Amino acid sequence: MRKPRIIIIGGLSAGPSAAAKARRVNENAEIILFEKTAHISYATCGIPYALSGKIQSRDKLIVVQPDQLVKRFDIDLHLNEPVTDIDPNAHMVYTHKGAYQYDKLIFATGGRAILPHIEGIEEYNNWAHAKTLEDFDKIMKQDVVAKSDHITIIGAGLIGLENAENLVKIGKKVTVIELGDHVLANWDAKFATMAEKVLIDNGIDLRLKTSVVGVDATTNELILNTGERLYTDYTLIGISIRPNTEMLTSKGAEHLPNGALIVNEKMETSIEDVYAAGDCASIPHKLTGESGWFPMGTHSNKGGRTAGANAVGGESAFDGGYGTAIMKLFDFTIARTGMGPKELKRKGINFKSSFSISGTTPGFYPDQKDLFLEIYFDPETKVLLGAELMGERGVDKRVDVLSTAIYAKLTIDDLPKLDLAYAPPFSPAKDPVIVAGFVAGNSITEGYQEVSVTEADEIFSNPNISNYIILDVRNPSEIHKNGLIEDSINIPLDDLRDRLSELNKHKHIFVYCAKGLRGYLSSLILLHHGFENVSNIGGGFTAWDKIIQKSVSLELD
Ligand SMILES: Cc1cc2nc3c(=O)[nH]c(=O)nc-3n(C[C@H](O)[C@H](O)[C@H](O)COP(=O)(O)OP(=O)(O)OC[C@H]3O[C@@H](n4cnc5c(N)ncnc54)[C@H](O)[C@@H]3O)c2cc1C
Repeated sequence: MRKPRIIIIGGLSAGPSAAAKARRVNENAEIILFEKTAHISYATCGIPYALSGKIQSRDKLIVVQPDQLVKRFDIDLHLNEPVTDIDPNAHMVYTHKGAYQYDKLIFATGGRAILPHIEGIEEYNNWAHAKTLEDFDKIMKQDVVAKSDHITIIGAGLIGLENAENLVKIGKKVTVIELGDHVLANWDAKFATMAEKVLIDNGIDLRLKTSVVGVDATTNELILNTGERLYTDYTLIGISIRPNTEMLTSKGAEHLPNGALIVNEKMETSIEDVYAAGDCASIPHKLTGESGWFPMGTHSNKGGRTAGANAVGGESAFDGGYGTAIMKLFDFTIARTGMGPKELKRKGINFKSSFSISGTTPGFYPDQKDLFLEIYFDPETKVLLGAELMGERGVDKRVDVLSTAIYAKLTIDDLPKLDLAYAPPFSPAKDPVIVAGFVAGNSITEGYQEVSVTEADEIFSNPNISNYIILDVRNPSEIHKNGLIEDSINIPLDDLRDRLSELNKHKHIFVYCAKGLRGYLSSLILLHHGFENVSNIGGGFTAWDKIIQKSVSLELD
């Protein structure tokens, strides 16, 4: 009997995962893998860290050697052989070396870095994308690390910022240029603003709402949309990627607007006998059921495995993702999972949010750090829809707990019931995830409202709104030390019951403390004493100071 022939196009992440799984499922299949470059299976994710020397050798980036794929998994590996065309009707793929028939085809071609229009880039040599091992090799060959003092990075997404941090760590002056209003477009502006502060505090020259429109190769100057000419020794471009799918979309394969191939849970495209996985494919968005595009290494592995198993007659399903991501940002970590406010608004999904700041270890344990956490949930069912978080410690653990909670469709009321591990070096007795559940639950059951610092700022900045009081319930010593929100009046929590007569019951009271807890307790006191319109500012003055950055000092007489 003729062996079934599986052809895989692309040898980085999804492709080798598909090949190895296909072999594990079917010893009898003929498996051919075409890769257009000389490399397979290297850790793209490690490249920024190899740039700074944190990953000390290029070899460490290679996850699987070609030999291993050939010998251990009996894969017919064709390196340096790009597939140039496909004929799905004839089940054929073409390369410059020949034509090959397939029974099943797995498309794992990933994406290519986007080059924005920059006048004069053709004459400019001192730049590279920041995506592939070839990019890394080019940067090393040009001796960029030794020769450059100032490096500019275009694009403030995950890749741009990872590179920025690594370059700062080895003493480079770094400018980051971002067209959008904020860095890290997948995060809400609150978290992006905190991330921007970390970047600036670490010496990065951050230019938001800015683009590079041209380059003068004779003077090594980037020409910005503002008209400024910025001298730089080298430029890294990491704005985004576009799926490499034209070979299939031109044959009618269904795809998202950006070209990502639409697949089902088996990773089958709309073209018969053709599977797709990795950055070139969409995957189901687990929370909405729509097709989503999550170009991440976690999904390329899982999608590749699924496609590989199914292509050789196995039964496997990948039911999708929901946007979990994490990155290191100097001493901080920023992470997200599920849907954030931008996506929820875009999709017209009703949601409520709750912002909390809690210690990642108990107050009595040395060096306590804050975790900034916002959760998004359905106000009717209370099911968790998403979370964003940032802090110096323990972010990785909490984002994965919250990701699991989202997968399990847990509600905000379930979060405090989780039996999470506690010992002082790791967590307080009330873990930040548990606190987030309590805070969110309180905000919808106890009559007071919670507003975010950005909502509060919009109100306080609006000259047409004046029927409110900003009530600071911290102790005066905290105010002297840290500052306050302009126009606040101060009544410390412990004096509040005795001084209620100083407050006008007909006004909307915006309460804040340092991080939220005393604001919450004060809100309840006010509500119990007949104040009807009370809002606690989530995250209190700490969030205001970090996110809104409009604190004022108390003027001393
Ligand atoms: C700098 C960087 C850091 C990252 N960090 C993270 C991280 O921390 N966490 C995370 O989850 N993800 C991260 N990612 C994303 C992750 O690397 C990708 O999601 C993953 O590599 C996608 O794998 P893929 O196989 O789908 O596509 P790719 O990695 O793009 O590989 C596609 C392969 O197909 C080959 N190919 C393309 N066209 C053809 C053709 N016509 N014929 C033959 N071969 C072809 C290409 O040469 C390439 O080798 C990072 C990416 C980068 C660039």
